[in-house]
Amino acid sequence: MKIFLPIFTLICTAFYFNAAAQELHCGTDIKMQEQLTADSEFGLRRAAIEESTQRWLEEHYDENVGRAVVTIPVVVHVVYSTTSQNLTEAQIQSQIDVLNEDYSGTNADVSGVPSVWTSLVANSEIQFQLANNDPDDNFTNGITRTETTVTNWNGSDDVKYTALGGHDAWPAASYLNIWVCNIGGGLLGYAYQPGINPQLDGVVIGYRYFGVDSQSATYDLGRTATHEIGHYFNLDHLWGPGGVNTNCNASDFISDTPVQLEPNYGCNTNFPSVSCSNGPNGDMFNNYMDYGNDECLFFFTNGQKSRMLSALNGARSSLLDSDGLSNPDGIEDAILASSIQVYPNPSSEFVYIQSDRVDQAKTNLIIRDITGRIVFSQSNVQLSHAAYSINVSILSKGTYVIEVLTENARLSKKINIL
Ligand SMILES: [Zn+2]
Repeated sequence: MKIFLPIFTLICTAFYFNAAAQELHCGTDIKMQEQLTADSEFGLRRAAIEESTQRWLEEHYDENVGRAVVTIPVVVHVVYSTTSQNLTEAQIQSQIDVLNEDYSGTNADVSGVPSVWTSLVANSEIQFQLANNDPDDNFTNGITRTETTVTNWNGSDDVKYTALGGHDAWPAASYLNIWVCNIGGGLLGYAYQPGINPQLDGVVIGYRYFGVDSQSATYDLGRTATHEIGHYFNLDHLWGPGGVNTNCNASDFISDTPVQLEPNYGCNTNFPSVSCSNGPNGDMFNNYMDYGNDECLFFFTNGQKSRMLSALNGARSSLLDSDGLSNPDGIEDAILASSIQVYPNPSSEFVYIQSDRVDQAKTNLIIRDITGRIVFSQSNVQLSHAAYSINVSILSKGTYVIEVLTENARLSKKINIL
């Protein structure tokens, strides 16, 4: 028996890890470890960030209440190979709304926090908004859409590269990049903590788990993104970096979250759940940085808030200077742009330009050929119900782009000259 017992244990252990590996989970620890192995400079940057984090916390720990609310510009890159993966704008906005509730502690289910922890519930004073200004200073709705032939990303960072069928990151110094795709690899999502190469920086979430009433039974309240963005702001899992906190000596570097052994899956209602001698209150299984189902995750602590704020005042401070939310009138501009009509297309003689909005003074019209060369230009055109006409019969046959530029709006439209 003395010989067989260890073998039996080994088999059971292997089975346990195999079963755990197939359970949907967060990929952050694995992805972080991959990058730390591949890039020694990343490890040095992480060490420097941890040192400055600890210094900032020592100096500012008491200042984490009543600070100005910070709003983070978000770009969501939807990378899809099926219609159901191409999430609607409303679905995406529902995720932003969840983030704003969860990060301010105004989520309705915060009342589920066990009473021993209610004094720790944080308003992080971090909020999120879809960007309205893109990296080229043009209006955006903060969403990019990319149709891809990749049907399953298997947890790969390839989704972050246009050349590999995904979409390149917007400058990570100015935007929180979120890729939504068929993530695969048994993952709900993953993030990189501060210090990562900017091309990889951001959060990846499986399309089934993004937003409210999503395409999942148990991860349908948007808490995957709440959790992953916690990592993005330098939070660790409650059991520390790595899989299981076997010796109970790993830490998430936060004083008001108890040390715990391992993730809590499903919906733990067994309070207290004691591990690692963390009684009487046990594991903080309702914390966003545990692994429970969405309906059982309710809060960040004040200690976690302080660590996130230290990231915002350190490695992520460039977000505070972002221009990503500097075009608040853009929605109006977009409506304006959609009111401009260009017709007929194709055309052989005249192209007409007309606007539903009568007073469109100072409009500039430009036609470019496919190489970008300007072949026609007229400034200070007065657009109105009466169409403005351009004689295009003098142009060679082919494809052109006509640009209509009003004071605030810009419309580009491809036209064919026959
Ligand atoms: Zn995680």
